[in-house]
Amino acid sequence: MADLIKSTIFGTPALEGTYIAEMDQWPLEAKELNRIYPFYDHLRAGRFTTTKCQECGHVSFPPGVICHRCWSEKLEWIDLPMKAKVTCLTETQAGAPAGFPTPLILAWITYPEGSPIRHQIARIVNCKEGELKEGDEVRMVIYEVPSHPRDVKKESEICNRVYYAFEKVR
Ligand SMILES: [Zn+2]
Repeated sequence: MADLIKSTIFGTPALEGTYIAEMDQWPLEAKELNRIYPFYDHLRAGRFTTTKCQECGHVSFPPGVICHRCWSEKLEWIDLPMKAKVTCLTETQAGAPAGFPTPLILAWITYPEGSPIRHQIARIVNCKEGELKEGDEVRMVIYEVPSHPRDVKKESEICNRVYYAFEKVR
């Protein structure tokens, strides 16, 4: 199992200490509210995973609860590589969505040969403007995002949340 890499918090400043559902940009991760909750449990354990269809072998990302190819609900969780290479990227230097510091860097990343998925669009964090280049190696990092409440047996509990991004390997 890969080491859990803790990064700084990139949550929405307006949500600190409160929970404003309308401004919440992160998924509800609690088991009671999200059928792909294992994805977030795996992140908390330092694993980057997705679902694979046990009927036809199709791998999807992001993970799902039904196969997009054959409609089977028999899916299993598989691990994805923690590192990839940047194929191309964009940097938003002004006017990023609320809660996202600039530069907001999004990259089309390519996983190594043999990976269950070859590409994805990924947010790149911990990187200065102009620092990331095509061909750079990036690795997954996990960061905390604001918690959300959930009701369990008439009691409110707090679900601590995490999300993932990538950062440049230096
Ligand atoms: Zn399938």
